[in-house]
Amino acid sequence: MINQAMYALGDEPSAIRELFAYGLARKAEVGADNVFDYSIGNPSVPAPAIVRDTIIELMDEDPVALHGYTPAAGDPAVKQVIADYIAERYGVPATPGNLYLTAGAAAGLAITISALTVPGDEVIVISPYFPEYKTWIDMAGCAIVEVPAHVPSFQIDADAVAAAITERTSAVIINSPNNPVGAVYTRETLEALARVLTAKEEELGRPIYLISDEPYREITYGAEVPYVPCLYPRTVVCYSYSKALSLPGERIGYIYVSDLMPDAAEVSCAVAGAGRALGYICAPVLLQRVIAKCVAEPSDVAAYAENRRILTEGLSALGYEYVEPDGAFYLWVKALEDDAQAFSDRAKEFELLLVPSDSFGVGGWVRLSYCIARDTIERSMPAFAQLMESYRG
Ligand code: PLP
Repeated sequence: MINQAMYALGDEPSAIRELFAYGLARKAEVGADNVFDYSIGNPSVPAPAIVRDTIIELMDEDPVALHGYTPAAGDPAVKQVIADYIAERYGVPATPGNLYLTAGAAAGLAITISALTVPGDEVIVISPYFPEYKTWIDMAGCAIVEVPAHVPSFQIDADAVAAAITERTSAVIINSPNNPVGAVYTRETLEALARVLTAKEEELGRPIYLISDEPYREITYGAEVPYVPCLYPRTVVCYSYSKALSLPGERIGYIYVSDLMPDAAEVSCAVAGAGRALGYICAPVLLQRVIAKCVAEPSDVAAYAENRRILTEGLSALGYEYVEPDGAFYLWVKALEDDAQAFSDRAKEFELLLVPSDSFGVGGWVRLSYCIARDTIERSMPAFAQLMESYRG
């Protein structure tokens, strides 16, 4: 007898994957240029040249050592480079012992949630939220508690978080810059959240961890992205190079447990244990070595900034409502009817592939990934005009 929960998960349709697959089939049918695919968050900017150069250089090294296992938490020398970078950039204590290298933020989050919770606990997420949070929270035997973001700012509503905390709450997951809305949480927002969590920890006499999911930290358009452990010491950072260096398929990132946290040693040990239990040991080693060379490489956001400008100017001229994105490469657009799935289906008639917001835990919106060719965005504007027209007529 197989595990029915896992069967259900494997069998569960994903709106994003389905739309992406539909797009591939549709492109084969009507030509790639005639489909405006805003479905998936795959970086459209190539990885920086230093990544390729480093891989080529590494190929001259002893292959046995190069491709061999590292310790489960990653190569101490690589972790030293990352720790030094974190310490210098954010002014926080960081040593190799504070880091656990992972196959992207996905592995980092699955590990962290398992490490910080026991079955029956509750984990708070801010809706709309990245759909896989629910999968990892379920996997840990915990209950997901959705707290709506403040509308229209899509900042965290700290009072609503306070109201949702119970004696079973072990963690709150935040993501800034945010997928799907593009919001960047301000210092004031994070300070208000920190005050709430500190007060609740005291009131309930238990630790409440903040899990900061940070794959988009480097993708911003001028907004400050405060370093969360500096504002709330009981923070675990799940970082990824997927978007920062355009390496989503290579799977590399890390978990950072800061010594600012009173129970840092226990949390680091639980992270190592959860990594072991879940089989997430020794992150891809070639990429570990690449990161050691590219840790300070800036992200190239110029193309995303230009796409953002063209898309927002175009949609606003057509009368669409959206959330002005301060980071990441997603635009959160108000659907023209309450049923986001029906709106997404209607958009398909005009070859526009827009992800319905139901996937992210809320109704009434669609998400557009604008990490696509600029020309596609420009050519999609008549389709958006026709879509709008179809609701007026
Ligand atoms: N968290 C968020 C909010 C994401 O958007 C993604 C990927 O798109 C992930 C986590 C997982 O990223 P990674 O590729 O690093 O596993």
